[in-house]
Amino acid sequence: MSYNINEKGYYGEFGGAYIPEMLYPNVEELRHNYLKIMAEPSFQEEFNALLKDYVGRPSPLYFAKRLSEKYNTKIYLKREDLNHTGAHKINNTIGQILMAKRLGKNRIIAETGAGQHGVATATVCALMGIECIVYMGEIDIARQAPNVARMKMLGATVIPALSGSRTLKDATNEAIRDWINNPVDTHYIIGSVVGPHPYPDMVAKFQAVVSEEIKSQLLEKEGTEDPTYLVACVGGGSNAAGTYYHYLDNEAVNIIAVEAAGLGVDSGESAATSVLGKEGIIHGSKTLLMQTNDGQITEPYSISAGLDYPGVGPMHANLYKTGRAEFIAITDDDAMKAGLDLCKLEGIIPAIESSHALAVFEHKTFKPDDIVVLNLSGRGDKDLQNYIDYFKL
Ligand SMILES: *Cc1c(COP(=O)(O)O)cnc(C)c1O
Repeated sequence: MSYNINEKGYYGEFGGAYIPEMLYPNVEELRHNYLKIMAEPSFQEEFNALLKDYVGRPSPLYFAKRLSEKYNTKIYLKREDLNHTGAHKINNTIGQILMAKRLGKNRIIAETGAGQHGVATATVCALMGIECIVYMGEIDIARQAPNVARMKMLGATVIPALSGSRTLKDATNEAIRDWINNPVDTHYIIGSVVGPHPYPDMVAKFQAVVSEEIKSQLLEKEGTEDPTYLVACVGGGSNAAGTYYHYLDNEAVNIIAVEAAGLGVDSGESAATSVLGKEGIIHGSKTLLMQTNDGQITEPYSISAGLDYPGVGPMHANLYKTGRAEFIAITDDDAMKAGLDLCKLEGIIPAIESSHALAVFEHKTFKPDDIVVLNLSGRGDKDLQNYIDYFKL
């Protein structure tokens, strides 16, 4: 049995491509070509060169000495926070912009909630001189002014989604509508391991550079490629998919997925999809999602904008269902404390998403000789106002 995707585009029973017929040609073109293009030596060469010189890879695997002493175990942090634009999302957008170019596309669309994926997309479009249109809910535009400004500076056009709750799902609807109307010249860059097949697999493969690097870096530092535990936070699940990718079928390595419990799993204000979710279809794939009894998607809540998503990617739904990964839900309060702790102990200000992963050490006891590799998915600059408000700094 494999925990990776099968030829039909499923992880176990999750995944697939549940899309309106009008979108079929777009998705089918991508499905037909993506593996072939990714395997081309010229693609690999250009992808790796940009990851090295533009993104700044490999990101360090840092032994966090004082954090390790506090929890009496060996903790390594994979420093995705040091990437250009401050998080792992750029690994995927670099891959997809190169894919778009090879598919002959000269126009990029994306949807964004908090704006992080919009910024990562606008960045690679500027890099390649390609037109960029980002759909964003009107409410989110008001809430995330600095990221809107960044996208504009990078040359993107930000179009407000004015329908429904005027947040992420409405922006996604607008982007899909645009793609249906522009099937020939436009590529849709999805920002996580979600959406119809082949997106979850394609995004996971672009993020897999994270676990590829962990293997060689850990071998150098510990004499083994295998940590005892891998830990990552899960919104849609792309940084986690990258962290787990090369270890999925290696069951000697334990996998921990951290979700946002918001104000508490039972509070009604949460984004803990594995606990609260039921099987359903969201953004074109069959997965676990938070929904009402009659199948309406529930508005999620988390203090962290990047984890505030009502579903998880199909890879993670399968890791949950099969028990391959242990899922832990962390509240706003516990995440914020863990984030501040990392500042004081290691001199690193983490993104609030990553702070959720860091809170695992207060919730689970590890052995002194366990090797725990935690993906520090992003840096906290974007969250400064949240930290200021929360801690009254
Ligand atoms: C977007 C984001 C996440 C959540 O997205 P995934 O697809 O689950 O990785 C996590 N951390 C940071 C820093 C982010 O920007």
